[in-house]
Amino acid sequence: MLRVGLTGGIGAGKSTVARQLLELGAVLVDADVLAREVVARGTPGLAAVLERFGPGVLTADGELDRPALGRLVFGDDGARAALNAIVHPLVAARRAELAAAAPADAVVVEDVPLLVETGAAPGYPLVVVVEAPEEERVRRLVQERGMRAQDARARLAAQAGDEQRRAAADVLLPNPRRPRGAPDPLPALVARLWHERLLPFEANLRARRPAPRPAGAPAGSTGQRGAAADRLRARVARAAGERALSVE
Ligand code: ADP
Repeated sequence: MLRVGLTGGIGAGKSTVARQLLELGAVLVDADVLAREVVARGTPGLAAVLERFGPGVLTADGELDRPALGRLVFGDDGARAALNAIVHPLVAARRAELAAAAPADAVVVEDVPLLVETGAAPGYPLVVVVEAPEEERVRRLVQERGMRAQDARARLAAQAGDEQRRAAADVLLPNPRRPRGAPDPLPALVARLWHERLLPFEANLRARRPAPRPAGAPAGSTGQRGAAADRLRARVARAAGERALSVE
């Protein structure tokens, strides 16, 4: 089994890529869906939220009133931290459960919008980042999701920037604006990623077989190699239980 962390800024195209990977055969774990599931009606998660935030965050139907909860935690770091302290461990536990239930040869793709912001990237053997220019993301959010432009910009501003996400990316999938009527190159990129990288990586992991080392000098610029070394170091540190580690 291979766990892949899939992320990107809002409107970049994560869900689009996730859907295609699902069609190709991935097991998809969607963090947004899990975040709703763990506080659905009747769950211990919802009970914990009520205990902390009071009955005002419940609708007449006994569901979580998200806008009401949003108003309580908006601009209140303590309240938001308290909410995250309830929701995040439940999501993490559910995610681990779903990954454990996947077949031994599965490629489990976890669609995690805030993968970089929450420092979760080193926990994944492979991180895929979908990238699109900010203006194009705003346009998609406004035209295709009906968001107000100022709300879309506020959402973008609250997330990590492209540089930060790129530093965490083992694979970068560009998904820029294209001229009207131009063919979409993204499906072919995703298909290549699946066949040429994810399936072989999964098979190697399961067989505990190291991939052959490429002949010659390592690919990429010095900066790219440095970033790759940083990601590797962070993964080793995570696997070693966050003990202080020095790799010279
Ligand atoms: P995210 O999950 O990263 O927020 P989505 O995958 O939902 O982003 O994409 C945002 C919007 O842009 C959606 O309406 C989606 O259909 C559209 N979109 C994304 N990528 C493409 C693409 N390559 N071609 C056409 N529409 C796209």
